[in-house]
Amino acid sequence: MSRDERVGRIRFMDEQRVNLDGFAHEDVDLGLVALASPYDPVPSLVVADGAVVEMDGRAAAEFDSIDAMVARHGIDLTVAEKAMALDDVALARMFVDPGVSRAEVVRLVAGTTPAKLARVVALLRPAELTIAMTKMRARRTPSNQAHVTNRLDDPLLLAADAATAAAYGFRELETTVPVLADAPSNAVAVTIGSVVGSAGVLVQCSVEEAMELEMGIRGLVSYAETVSLYGTESVFVDGDDTPYSKAVLAAGYASRGVKMRVSSGAGAEVLMGGAERCSMLYLESRCVSLARAMGVQGVQNGGIDGASVAGSVPGGVREMMAENLMVMARNLEACTGNDALMSESDVRRTSRTLPILLAGSDYVCSGFGSIQRYDNMFGPSQWNAEDIDDWLAMQRDWGVDGGLRTADPAEVGRLRRRAAEACRDVYRWLGIADFDDDHVELAVDAVGSKDLGDPDPLVVLGAAQTIRSSGLGSLEVARALQECGYDEEAARLLDMLVARVHGDHLQTAAIFDEQMRVLSLVTDPNDYAGPGTGYEPDDARQAEIDAIRQARGVADLRADQAEHASDRFTVIGPSETGTDPREVVIGLSPGVGRTVWRALSGLTVVEVLRELLAGLEEEGCRGRVVRVASTIDLGMIGLTAARLAGSGIGIGLQGKGTALIHRRDLPPLANLELYSMAPVITPELYRLLGANAGRHAKGATPVPARNPYTDEAIEARYHTSVIALVALERACVDGALGTEDIEVRL
Ligand code: CA
Repeated sequence: MSRDERVGRIRFMDEQRVNLDGFAHEDVDLGLVALASPYDPVPSLVVADGAVVEMDGRAAAEFDSIDAMVARHGIDLTVAEKAMALDDVALARMFVDPGVSRAEVVRLVAGTTPAKLARVVALLRPAELTIAMTKMRARRTPSNQAHVTNRLDDPLLLAADAATAAAYGFRELETTVPVLADAPSNAVAVTIGSVVGSAGVLVQCSVEEAMELEMGIRGLVSYAETVSLYGTESVFVDGDDTPYSKAVLAAGYASRGVKMRVSSGAGAEVLMGGAERCSMLYLESRCVSLARAMGVQGVQNGGIDGASVAGSVPGGVREMMAENLMVMARNLEACTGNDALMSESDVRRTSRTLPILLAGSDYVCSGFGSIQRYDNMFGPSQWNAEDIDDWLAMQRDWGVDGGLRTADPAEVGRLRRRAAEACRDVYRWLGIADFDDDHVELAVDAVGSKDLGDPDPLVVLGAAQTIRSSGLGSLEVARALQECGYDEEAARLLDMLVARVHGDHLQTAAIFDEQMRVLSLVTDPNDYAGPGTGYEPDDARQAEIDAIRQARGVADLRADQAEHASDRFTVIGPSETGTDPREVVIGLSPGVGRTVWRALSGLTVVEVLRELLAGLEEEGCRGRVVRVASTIDLGMIGLTAARLAGSGIGIGLQGKGTALIHRRDLPPLANLELYSMAPVITPELYRLLGANAGRHAKGATPVPARNPYTDEAIEARYHTSVIALVALERACVDGALGTEDIEVRL
């Protein structure tokens, strides 16, 4: 069937955003297979004289460099025999059994080969993966990592955005560059912003390995994570690397007190044509085993750059979460992906991340784009500045800690200004660049680099070259901060340098809290062992999670309504039944003109009445306004109005804007026309309602008006306001007051 022959329903579905994504058939030959390939080796381990002589079906003589390193350094031979003899299902059950401690699972997994661990975690279903992650992550307290980049490498914007990210709770900030030579400037700018935002924020600058290591050694960054591992030797070789060269690099960082993890993840080998017909999960299991063997602190995995490749095959999202779990089971810090955008669909990307947010992770995202999508120089993240409020709402909905918190808008403004000014002052004091006041103002207010105008790119480049050639490091930046009057920030930066000497943050899964306490596998170990155990936000943290800035109460709405108060409503006296056959009575709810002044549509009640009365007038009818004090029920208000009207036709109008036409001989719950969608009723529709009421009064049968089309979540948006408005209306109910005629000055 050709596309043109498709019916409208299918054409409509084709247009949805999920269909911008690429979906692949499983293809074992290309490695496009998530959890298990027929070519994955059968797990095996043979040990002789304290050495591995066969692993996963391969004899030692045939080991490639990955096998060799894993066999030599990655498997705990004291427990290997027992672990490898365990039935796959039996070991898988231990991951979710609250009666088996995390420590016991870790102990046994240490004795497993890559093929064994992959087969075991592949048995876990999604809900079981979530429970297993809750139990197996290293650190008790979850955290999150941000990307802080911009397309111009603008230092003042980087500093302002770094401070903003810290204010929202991110404990690691990762920057990178579109222009490699800018890197030292980016590292300095993000570092300055980080210490303005909070004490103890770790900073990295992801660039080419030699420059990144140089910046680490000079103290311009405090962690690194982009040392990439691959699951097949051929892909390593293509990158001019080996597991050994990566291990040396990792040791280089650790030797200088720089926190260090490696990166891997499904899809990388597929993209480079080197998957060797193995499943993504098995190849990633090799990477994770290798990371263990290298002695690094942790792994950033879960797809990463290959996330969309993994996401394109059946079970791919499940595979990415299983990757993360393997890292936790090998007792390493897990930085659980959710960084590269894997789908254009908000539903799919939420579906991919949600179980990990619910379970909690050492870093739920290994790169939440704290900046706008277009400024994310890693490519758009799975989550970006566009989504921060969504993330905060999801944390609150589920009552879980996703590592973020609401930042007070005024505080965000203050921090952005201080960060941009501090960066400007330090660059000026160090003689590396001179930014004017206008640039500071633009950076403070900018949502992204498009708001900065067209700054000279050579300024940043020049600053970066000066930083690199002068040999300047974080100690000089700290001194400059102090010389420029930023004592607290200078002290925070010095604290980060002192921490490198102590080295406590080199423990697995270490972060600093805002008091510079190290939270890690050692000081804050995950103690989940079923319901009633493990991490729960403490009261202060829960209050932070719950208090999103959009939350409203009755007091807020009362204040909003009071802003629209007027003296246009005057009580004339008790209402009498009319005799004019052209008279239509408009009955108002009890709060109108007392505490309720504005409808949900944004029209004031006076504006609504103006339209209703004009509509009646068009039909040659006369309107009379009354206020019904005895009830907030719109049907009763309309019926009361109808019974007072000479024509027997009444209009009921609630303060929120819902309106109906009633007739005196109908039961209360029946009516002639109802406009229920108060938030979307326009002046034209109110006028039509008035006109139709007039036509009913004259005995005609008008065509009823229809609620306008809308696909918006009207109820979700207005529920809070409706509940508060009802509370205001109910407080005005007075059975003794009866119904009064009201003069409304239009
Ligand atoms: Ca990252």
